[in-house]
Amino acid sequence: MEHKQHYRASVPWVGPNNAESISFVTGTVYTLLRETAKWAAYSTKKRFATVKMDIGGAFPTIYSLTQCTPDLSSESCFKCLQGSLKWFDGRRGGRIIGERCLIRFETSILYNGEPMRIMGPSTNSTSAMSKGVPNINRRIWKIKVPLKVKVFLWYLRRGVILTKDNLARRNWKGSKKCCFCHKDETIQHLFFQCHLSRLVWSVIHMASNFQPPRNVTHMFGRWLLCVPKEMRNLLLMGAAALCWSIWLSRNGVIFDNKLVSSLLQVITLVTRWLRTWAILHKPGLRDTIAVVSRRLDQVARDVFTQEHGWRSSLRIDSH
Ligand SMILES: [Zn+2]
Repeated sequence: MEHKQHYRASVPWVGPNNAESISFVTGTVYTLLRETAKWAAYSTKKRFATVKMDIGGAFPTIYSLTQCTPDLSSESCFKCLQGSLKWFDGRRGGRIIGERCLIRFETSILYNGEPMRIMGPSTNSTSAMSKGVPNINRRIWKIKVPLKVKVFLWYLRRGVILTKDNLARRNWKGSKKCCFCHKDETIQHLFFQCHLSRLVWSVIHMASNFQPPRNVTHMFGRWLLCVPKEMRNLLLMGAAALCWSIWLSRNGVIFDNKLVSSLLQVITLVTRWLRTWAILHKPGLRDTIAVVSRRLDQVARDVFTQEHGWRSSLRIDSH
């Protein structure tokens, strides 16, 4: 696959056989650079920003710096910086020099003094950088899922997951088609509108009576209001399991040439993640998660294996 080789060749920090971690690393560094550019353009008069990203785990700390000329408006400055970012090719460190601007990033500190901002789960600086969504950022870092899933959600929230439309914006030349159908792959399509994701959401609906969210903003926002306050982190964890499973199934098809996943395969993945992540919760919640995942398995099997389809007695709220 041509695009696979192109993609792998440009990211030397990780082993060549792990497509998932390649897209994780590339996406994370890209997010950092984009946030640094945004900070320089909108929050500083000198159009200069330094940011340190420390997301923990095995991921290295990365330092970035952006400088543009102060005569541009914030909008033109950010537009220009974003334009320069298309030259980012996933390398561990480097510099991008645009017409007026400079973007640098390294795993060692590249400026004197403290960074102007710090990005990562242990600080709330990330929320300060994306005005208007502080609560949801805090909520993402708070839910009990592995770090890489939190970062995945964080990208999803910001619309920077490397779906094919986002890759194409960065000069990627592969096919833009969704791997489950013939439509173009965008975040909205892959997670909400593709026939496969609609089927998966409809199983959730049958099992729980929750209407599927309309889009990413809805999923991280008003959609969570359909359950009492104390259950919202749990609901977001469920949505995380679903989106993460769709994402992994999609990567399996694209990078590992796996057969197109069926609804049952995706739901099996969802309930497997729910059971794995249940261990991170308190005993009471663990039981709730176990009941939910059993019900999802049951409904999915029922939809697919019995001629009469779904029985309303399988709704969670009917028990
Ligand atoms: Zn599709």
